[in-house]
Amino acid sequence: MLDHGWVATVLFEKALPWPCAATEHPAMDIATPTDYRAIAAGLAFPSEAFINGRFVAARSGARFTNLNPATAAILGEVAACDEDDVDAAVAAARRAFDAGAWSRAAPEARKDVLLRLAALLREHAMELSVMESLDSGKTITDCLNEVGHEVPNFFQWYGELIDKSFGKVAPTDESALALIVHEPVGVAGLVLPWNFPLLMAAWKLAPALAAGCSVVVKPAEQTPLTVLRLAELAAQAGLPDGVLNVVPGFGETAGQAIGRHRDIDVVSFTGSTEVGALFLKYASESNLKPVGLEMGGKSPFIVLDDAPIDDALVSNAVSAALWNGGQNCSANMRQFVPRARKDEFLDKVLARVAALTVGDPLDPATEMGAMVSADHQRRVLGYIEAGLGEGARVVAGGGALEGHDGYFVKPTVFDDVVHGMTIATEEIFGPVLGVIAFSEPEEALRMASDSVYGLHATVFTRDIDRALHFARRLPCGTVSINRFSEGDIKTPFGGYKRSGSLARDNGTEAIAQYQQTKTIWIGGPEG
Ligand code: NDP
Repeated sequence: MLDHGWVATVLFEKALPWPCAATEHPAMDIATPTDYRAIAAGLAFPSEAFINGRFVAARSGARFTNLNPATAAILGEVAACDEDDVDAAVAAARRAFDAGAWSRAAPEARKDVLLRLAALLREHAMELSVMESLDSGKTITDCLNEVGHEVPNFFQWYGELIDKSFGKVAPTDESALALIVHEPVGVAGLVLPWNFPLLMAAWKLAPALAAGCSVVVKPAEQTPLTVLRLAELAAQAGLPDGVLNVVPGFGETAGQAIGRHRDIDVVSFTGSTEVGALFLKYASESNLKPVGLEMGGKSPFIVLDDAPIDDALVSNAVSAALWNGGQNCSANMRQFVPRARKDEFLDKVLARVAALTVGDPLDPATEMGAMVSADHQRRVLGYIEAGLGEGARVVAGGGALEGHDGYFVKPTVFDDVVHGMTIATEEIFGPVLGVIAFSEPEEALRMASDSVYGLHATVFTRDIDRALHFARRLPCGTVSINRFSEGDIKTPFGGYKRSGSLARDNGTEAIAQYQQTKTIWIGGPEG
């Protein structure tokens, strides 16, 4: 997620501006699939939990098999943590928090460590990017951008922010001095998805650590590797033992143990709306910890009739739906197009989709990699079947990509999608673009808004009045005009309705998830 504009530029059409100098990007240093395969062959994959500053096996000794979804090859066996391991990680996090070496350190001291971590992440960008690609099936180009570019930037940005964040003095008469200060909330439980494994870790870890929290992180079972390696680099950067703990394992065990733990003070979760709801239940049945939720979406892409259907629009439409194989919470799968211009739109979209290169994620020419797992591939194919069953028409793709041992789905375009169909209602999380025709702009606005989700929307129009009207009326956390973008590191990201809670990731707002607000009221001579 994030910096999608950059990714769209690189992957789908070199047509969109983005303020990132090409020479800054590690992808520029590389190379061929053979180079990446050579790096892959030399990688040592982390396989244990990271608790109190060192790698340890799960207390039960249990392990799970970790696959490369692009080849179905086994990458290794990883510690399967359960409640006991979460207890140990929380105890380490609590000890570190109470000891204060991190939680009460001067902001400048935390900044120094976070900047060192950013530098180490950049130094190890190639190793981490290849590891991410192998673990998730994502393309190496995406991984180099996310892991090599955005992830270190997050640690740098929040490191730089924290010694420039001031409290407040409330207005009083001379009898008092009223200070409003922020303190780290304590131990944070971070539960991560698999679609942007290290980037989602950075979205949460960077502000949580900058705020002074200790953390217990559970990566998704499909993608445990890069955050374990990051924990090791964080220790090397000088993060005190126990501040950052990683417990790989399953949602029902390690995830639930985090949700129900009475000594975890806050949870931040990204994943499905169903599991997000479970975290609210866990909190209500344990210690009422606040829960920040970033969940599913069914985001619209709206083309108004004044917008030229040019290369930029088409490139954005395709990347909005298909980028990262559609495994993106803000994927703009529902594409609303004026009825009179649908054929023109579809013709151009189909030409662009036909030109997409799908396959080996380690080939820099590849634009779309694998689905994250066999289960997820089945789930996406099931939605394609549902679309056909309800009368939508497949005009591109529509099945698994043959000739691979891994879990690929062809980029798929549906015509004749009708608002209310299953594929226009439920989150598919796969490479599926659906076209819904409309007659009047207000009809598009009504259908686009009629969703239980409210994460993101894109609107294309040349008319500023219409742009503002749609931006204000669409009930979602981010509206992107004339470009598919979720904003960047500086802008808050989160959803309305069942896409999120009031919490926001990114921007200065993210820090609030990990801080308490305290009032200190000091009586003066008159008080
Ligand atoms: P989940 O919501 O199941 O997983 C997200 C995280 O929650 C993972 O770390 C997972 O662990 C954990 N988890 C799962 N079940 C529980 C539980 N009972 N208690 C506590 N933690 C739990 O997403 P999936 O990976 O299953 O993907 C399913 C769908 O969710 C996708 O198809 C997509 O629609 C949506 N999704 C949305 C994302 C987003 O960015 N908003 C990201 C990922 C998925 P584990 O990996 O071990 O199951």
